[in-house]
Parts: sequence; C-alpha cells; structure tokens
Amino acid sequence: MGPPRKLVFPPSVTKSYLLCMRIINLNPDTDIGASAWFLHLEGNGLLMDAGTHPKREGRASLPLYDVIRKEDVDAIAVTHCHHDHVGSLPLAHRFFPKAHILMTELSYLLVERVLHNSVNVMIRQKEELGITEYPLYSHHELDEMFHIFQGFRYNREVEWAAVQKIQAGFGSPTLEFFDAGHALGSAGIMVRGQKQTVFYTGDVCFRDQTILRAAQFRDVKADVLIMETTRGNRGTPPGFTREGEVERLAQAIQRVLERKGCILIPVFALGRTQEILAQLALLMRAGKVQKQPIYIGGLGRVFTEIYDIEAHRANRQHTNLKLTEALNLIVLDKDQIEKMKLSGGRIFVVTAGMMSEKTAAHDLALRMIGDERQSIFFVGYADPETPGGRLKASKPGDTFVFSPSGGEVTRRCEVEDFDLTAHASREDLLDFVGQVEPRTVLLGHGELPARLWFEESIKQRYPKIRVIQPAPGLSVEV
Ligand SMILES: [Zn+2]
Ligand SMILES: [Zn+2]
Repeated sequence: MGPPRKLVFPPSVTKSYLLCMRIINLNPDTDIGASAWFLHLEGNGLLMDAGTHPKREGRASLPLYDVIRKEDVDAIAVTHCHHDHVGSLPLAHRFFPKAHILMTELSYLLVERVLHNSVNVMIRQKEELGITEYPLYSHHELDEMFHIFQGFRYNREVEWAAVQKIQAGFGSPTLEFFDAGHALGSAGIMVRGQKQTVFYTGDVCFRDQTILRAAQFRDVKADVLIMETTRGNRGTPPGFTREGEVERLAQAIQRVLERKGCILIPVFALGRTQEILAQLALLMRAGKVQKQPIYIGGLGRVFTEIYDIEAHRANRQHTNLKLTEALNLIVLDKDQIEKMKLSGGRIFVVTAGMMSEKTAAHDLALRMIGDERQSIFFVGYADPETPGGRLKASKPGDTFVFSPSGGEVTRRCEVEDFDLTAHASREDLLDFVGQVEPRTVLLGHGELPARLWFEESIKQRYPKIRVIQPAPGLSVEV
C-alpha cells in the first residue's frame, strides 16, 4: 500500500459531489481501439482497463491518460489480458503510482508474460520499423511494478478505494469480477458505490466456446452499463450454429490437406489459439481432420500450457483435454517462417490475428497469398485497416497493398472466414441490456455503425433507457 497518501479534497466536498457519477471514455479513437474507462463514483476514482490501440503506433496508441491526469485514481482494474485492454498498464501505473491494480486470479497468471512480450515486440518494431518512441516501457520497469498487482477470484467483492478516503467518509465502494467467457481470466466488472452501481462488460461471450463456457452474467443488474459493441454491425444469419461452422471448417481443412496445400489460421496468442487448437484436437480425435503436427508461436505455446495447467480453475468444457498432449505442437522459429517448404499439407495456428507487421502470420501470409494451393482461414475479427482485414476483404485476383513492409500483392490463395467468435452476438447483448435494466447505457469497443445499431435497437426496444456514445476524452455525467 505504500506510505499514507495526502488526501486532495475537491474544492467543496458537497453531498451532491459525493453522489455524482462521471465516466470518461479514454479510447483515443472512435473505433474499437484501446479500452480504458475512467469512473468517478461518489468521490472515488477507478480506471477500468488500460489498453493500447492495435492500429496506432507509439504514444498515439495510448489511452488519453492526460485527460485524467488531475483526477484521483484509487485503483486500476483490468478485465482481461488482451493488448487492447492491458497493453498500456505500465503507463497507467506511471500516471497513478498509488493506485492498486486489480484483476482476476487467472489474469494475474498471464499478465506478466503478456506485458514482457509486448516489450519484446516494441523493441523489434523500433529496430525493424524505426518507431523511435518504442519501447514505451521496459522489462525492468515491469519487474518493478508486478508486486502491486492483485489477483481475485470471480464473484468476490473487493474494496478498492484508498483507505484514507474510506476513513474520511467517502464511502467504501467495491468491485466484483464476473466471468465473461471471452478468454482465460476474462471478466466483466461490477462496481458498487453507496447509492449506485455500474457494470462494465469488458469483452464478453454469451455462448459456450470450445473450451470456455459462456459468460456468467445471469444475476447482473446495474444503474449504469458500459458495454462492448464489437459485433453490432453483424447480424446472426438464420440457421447459424457454431457446430455447423466447425463442420464447415473441418471440411475446408481436409480439402486443403488433400491437395497438399498449407493452412494458415491467424489468431491471438491468448484465447483464439487455444480455442482453435481444442477444436482441431477434437476433429482429429473424431477422424474428421487427419492427424498431423500443428505449428504454433512461442507465446501461443506458453498460454496453451497455462490453459492446460489451470483447467481446474477455469469454467470450461473438456476439462481433461490437455492440448499439449492431444496435439503434436511444434513451435515455429523465424528461420522456418522464412524458409520452410509450403507443400505437403501443414497447419499453422500463429499470431497475430490481424496479421500486423513483424508477426509470423504476416510473414507466412506474404509467402502464401500469391499461391493458389494455399489457404488462409480467419476465425475472428480483423480490423479492415490491418493487413488481415485487407486480405479478408479481397477477392481472388485482386492486387492490393498488404502492408508497408510487405508491399503490393496479388491474391491467388483461398481465403475463408469462419465465424467462431469470442464476442457476444448483437442479439445476445441486446437481451442482456434488458436483463441489466440500467437507466443509462454507454456504448464502446465498436465501430461507428456497430454503435449506431445498438443505439437505435436499444431505444426501440427499451425506450426508457438513455443511450450514450461517449466521445473520446469527454466527461459524461450519468
Ligand atoms: Zn479481448
Ligand atoms: Zn477487446
């Protein structure tokens, strides 16, 4: 906890001040971007998430921490260990060194590796892409801060305000992590003040995935709801089932292997990798995909081990499916990415999901795009302005700039999109709004058309609920 801190009271501590609630969306952009929400609740300040923007470089990728520089931030709570939610945590800590840093137990086991890896990536980008601002933090700085991290079980109420504030009568707000079913350790956050409650969904999935079970948000009710809207611009087609999609994936993989082509599945190292590996393991066990090695990235391999080891702690299916045993996993090295022969049928499940530069997926894709025997299968979201997004949108024979370092390519390979998302459908999220019965909903973590769909749909279905799309950096009274 450190030495007792001096309390800086607001100019006049009035009753209304203590009862007010303000929220600031700190995402520097109006798209999915970097997640970070400042909540001022009844005299206490909480930062929820501290992400980085996947499409921006250097300091431009950071949340708008300057906007809240003068605020009192008592605690920082993290929903999960994806970069768009946790990537700038060390910077947030630099701004608010006295704030406790809270997360779920499972995130606690992942976060060090995620952040150390991101230092390595930034160093590489500095050397190879000339981004001089990188790294934004160092390995040493990380090692110095880890002791203030705290990991909590799901559904345990935790006090988070500074002790002196509680004593000074600011009340003693709590927070509680609810399993969000999105990736290992993911959570929605319930914040309870004396008079009011706020629920922040983080990234959420309301349906079972292959490993992780659906979110456990059944009992959630709150006065204010902050909600992700990733899939607001994508309706669920009639008759769609995840099982049907898996079947389609199995047939597509088998088709490519039979013609001796390779399959690249770009994924995030945490979550997507393990869900796809589990699916492949089950398909191989069922004889639907022929048994063979799977090439993965080093960090993906580490997280896969943690998924296996922590199987007892996660709310998951197939608890006895140990991925590292069920599959022959081979960690790809840089040399293989450049030189390995792309024939004879191989499966690559490698980062990054959006094929950002200097990743295995980017470099392998460059080798595969012009070759009609090869296949690239997307299984998750790719922003349209990333190499992965551009490839996904392309048609056979299209010539386009893949990335600044990759240059112009002509697409001859097969590209398919399989909807095996880790995000809630918009229909499920709309139902969830009805369950929570908030007086106000704040929409974030989505493109403009996605947020507009939610705004209109919520107003139509729940006319009494106020809907806000908070602009970056603007303080909203709720
Ligand atoms: Zn996520
Ligand atoms: Zn996210």
